[in-house]
Order: sequence, then structure tokens, then C-alpha cells
Amino acid sequence: MNSECRRFPILSYLQTITLPTPFPVGPINCYLAEGDELTLVDTGPREPATLDLLRQELAARGHALKDIRRVVVTHTHVDHFGLLADIVAESGARVLSHSRNRWSLTDFEHEWFHRHDFYRDIFLRAGAPTEYADAVIHGMRRITQYAASVPADSFVPLEDEDKLTLGTDAWQVVFAPGHASGLICLYEPRSRTLISSDHLLRDITSNPVLEPPTRGETERPRALVDYCASMEKTARLPIRIALPAHGEPIYDVRALVDARIAFHRSRLDHIEEQLQCCTASAFELCQILFPELKSFDTFLGLSEVIAHLDLLELEGRVRREESDGPTRYVSTAK
Ligand SMILES: [Zn+2]
Repeated sequence: MNSECRRFPILSYLQTITLPTPFPVGPINCYLAEGDELTLVDTGPREPATLDLLRQELAARGHALKDIRRVVVTHTHVDHFGLLADIVAESGARVLSHSRNRWSLTDFEHEWFHRHDFYRDIFLRAGAPTEYADAVIHGMRRITQYAASVPADSFVPLEDEDKLTLGTDAWQVVFAPGHASGLICLYEPRSRTLISSDHLLRDITSNPVLEPPTRGETERPRALVDYCASMEKTARLPIRIALPAHGEPIYDVRALVDARIAFHRSRLDHIEEQLQCCTASAFELCQILFPELKSFDTFLGLSEVIAHLDLLELEGRVRREESDGPTRYVSTAK
């Protein structure tokens, strides 16, 4: 597969390198910033053919993998940082990412192992059968093949509003949790360009993915609550073009955000309607909303339902009913 070679007229130092992924989301757009410190934003998954392709794409631009000085990881999904360990081993590059991502990047295998217990527990409380929980955990184990940890001393934590020079411009870190709890975008005010990662995608609705509490915290993130707040935050920036990690650029961020929020509002209404006549567990709701999903994909469906129930609960529209069995929900308007 040939990667697109796109340069952006107002940001001549920035190029897209598009790499394949084995996931339904399709290829990923990584961004290469030339300048004093050759910087790659996101890496593609850890697969030998993808690493070869990245080498070829760099060579076509006059660079080698060992020339990379920094890798910015927008969030810790394996299509975004899978090749990181190989790049760091060969180049000694520093890894810049939000501070919440430290453990997923420097202790990846252990973090994923720890997640299995969290997911099994939450799926069973959501009313999922044991076989379902086992199938999802099995799918998660397979995902670990697509990434590896980097040395702890390569990690440089970023926070919201930090500045970062890419090419000749100062880019600003925009913390935008929701799709992932440690997701960052990068914004350049002169050209009004946002590298939007999976936070804003033109043709796909980003799912709020269920995550365990970050180390040192006790509460799991409320992904959809965070995602809606992050969308409003980015919509307030005067963005001219948003460069996403999957698919084509976005030119009207406000309209896209309005459409995404309307989509989630209508799903919230739909879920609450289901709960007006009777109680249901998150897993039962998932089967009503996404009857076509199979095996590991149902994880994203259940993530989506739990994220919406979190927000409905926060807004006082549903309440939970705890018992010895699965947690059940009911509309407060019932
Ligand atoms: Zn992602």
C-alpha cells in the first residue's frame, strides 16, 4: 500500500504519512514535522510490514528512522503508538505524551494485564455472560502484539497548554479526554491548524472507550462526559483545518461538533426511552442498540452504552438499582 504524501501549503514542514492498520478503522494518518528536531506524531501499529513501510516513507523524504528525535503520542491506542518501541530503540527519540499516558507507554504489558481484571468485573456487573467476558479478554490479549513498552527515561510528560516547537511554529497541547482519557490534540494558532487525532474524525463517530482508573486514581473516567466537554473546548478554538488520525481533513469543526453532540443526545434519549417501561442492564441495552455486533466488537458497543448511562445518571435522568446480580438501570421519569 502506498502512503499518501501530502504537504500543507501553510505548514511546509508538515507531512502526512499514512500507514495501514489491521483494525476496522482503516489506515492511520501519522504526521511528520521536519525541522531542528525531526518529530513524528503517532506511529502506526507494531507490525513488521508497517515498520518497513514507515522506513520507506521516511527515506522518500530524505530521512531515516534513526533521525527521529521526538515522537508525540496522541493517545495510547495501539494503532497510535505500536511502533514506538522500535523507533525509540533505533533512534533514541524522546516520547512526548500526556502525563496520564506514562504507564501505558512505559509499562504497557503490565497495564494491559491489569485492565483484564477491571474489564471482566465491569462486564459481569453490566450483566454480560461469563463467555462474553472471556471472549473480550481474549481479544484484548491479542491486541498486546501490536505494541511494546518504551524505557521509562524516554518519556516526557505533557500537560494542557504546554508549548511544543514543530518545524518553525509553536504548537499548543490541547488536552481533549473522552475517546481516550489521556488524549491530546496539537494546535498551531498562526495557521489555525489542529492535529485532532481520534478526537475529531470526519467520517466516523469517535467512541468513548471504557477505561480503568489511571494509576493513583480510584474512579474510572466518565468517557462521554469528558468527550462532550472536550468537543466544546476544541470548537471554541478558531480552527481553519483539523487533521485527523483517520480519514480526510475537517474544515468546519463547529458543524462537526454540533453533529456529534446531536448524535449522542439522540442516543441518550433513545436509551432513556428504553428504560421508561422497565429496568435493563447495560448488556441488555447493548443487545437492543447493537444487535449486529459480534465477539470483540461488542466491547465497543458496551463501552458506548456504559458511557451514555454515566451521562444520563449524571443528568439525573436514570438511576441504578444495585442487587446481588447485575446493575440495572431505570428512567427517573418512570
Ligand atoms: Zn483511538
